[in-house]
Amino acid sequence: MANDKLFYDQEETCPVCQKKFTARKVRRSMCIVSRRDTDFCVIYQNVNPNLYSIFVCPHCGYAAADTTFAEVSPEDREKLANGLAELGYAGIDFSGERDVKKGIAAYERAVRCAEMRGAKDSVFASLYLRIAWLYRSEQDAREVEFVQKALDAYDKAFNSEPMPIGKMSEIALTYLIGELYRRTGNPAKAVQWYSQVVSNPKARMEPQILQLARDGWQDSRQLAKTRPQPAAGGAAGAPAPTQAQAQARSGGAAAIQGQAAAAQGETAQAAAKPVVAFVSTKPAQLPVPPAQAGPKLRAKVVSVLTLYADQTEWLKKVSQATRVGKRRLDPQAIIRALIDSVIDVEPKLLKAETEEQMLALFKTVRAGRAQAPAGGRSTGVAPRSAATPVTQAGDTAKAAGGTR
Ligand SMILES: [Zn+2]
Repeated sequence: MANDKLFYDQEETCPVCQKKFTARKVRRSMCIVSRRDTDFCVIYQNVNPNLYSIFVCPHCGYAAADTTFAEVSPEDREKLANGLAELGYAGIDFSGERDVKKGIAAYERAVRCAEMRGAKDSVFASLYLRIAWLYRSEQDAREVEFVQKALDAYDKAFNSEPMPIGKMSEIALTYLIGELYRRTGNPAKAVQWYSQVVSNPKARMEPQILQLARDGWQDSRQLAKTRPQPAAGGAAGAPAPTQAQAQARSGGAAAIQGQAAAAQGETAQAAAKPVVAFVSTKPAQLPVPPAQAGPKLRAKVVSVLTLYADQTEWLKKVSQATRVGKRRLDPQAIIRALIDSVIDVEPKLLKAETEEQMLALFKTVRAGRAQAPAGGRSTGVAPRSAATPVTQAGDTAKAAGGTR
């Protein structure tokens, strides 16, 4: 794609030194999304707009997010002018295309400037999280260090700043803090924060966040059971919000609706992506995790699942049966629960070479005869005819959307 379509230049006046410069911007509409991570990080195929969202004045080195670049009070201006004079400006050229290294350098400079003016915790949190995302894009281990910094800063901001923070609603931020705890290896704390989302009535207005929190809660609960917890009062030891605190913060509830979506822009749609796509054209191939699977990774694998017509009918039926109000359990959740329950029941017995053997094994378990039939030939299970598969893709996409 021609660069002149992806980028455009914008004239800016530095609010610190008052000199003009040209800032490069990315046309968001031209960015092709390839993946959305559960901490709202969006991964793009062609260009990462995050690389360009920090403006850096080429004259004095003042750097800040493009959205707040011009917002400098007279006192801040003095602090920045003094601080920048002391810091010096290495004269890195940020005007053209930026690679990840240059992108991170721009963010780090923005962090320095935020320090000079004593910015709010939420400003640091946002900068740190984006640095973490850039390290992630390079599979650089420093990602975790910056996720931790972002977590600490968001944790402080949650307790000291009015909502919304950045562009995040209270619900979105509560979820994100849980998610960052999970990503820094503290599933027990993560569970506490996810629980605050799930139990907050306002979360129903943000169904995508609610679903992410439910998924995170489920996975972290498993991890918390299997993993010893870090000592209390660790690096990010602030307590999860109590229900009372959460309620107390709920002023302006009416303004919360749709906030995360607007705020996070594309990111809040993370949950809209189907986790499992159902295409019933071939015999079933369930991605069963290995027996004795260790602690679950949070990331869900996008998988194409082929199911028989009666199976999809059954899923629909269960989904309907679990309907509460307008919500119902989506087919993915049902299948995940089924797989989990089977893993829990008898992982050692799950040694089958064919689908029929597997089915026979399950029947054995159910009948309480804890002996795996050798070879599985004498089970009397007739190979299944694949005569009636149907496509469920439409329904499933709807169910996975979670926007009803
Ligand atoms: Zn300047």
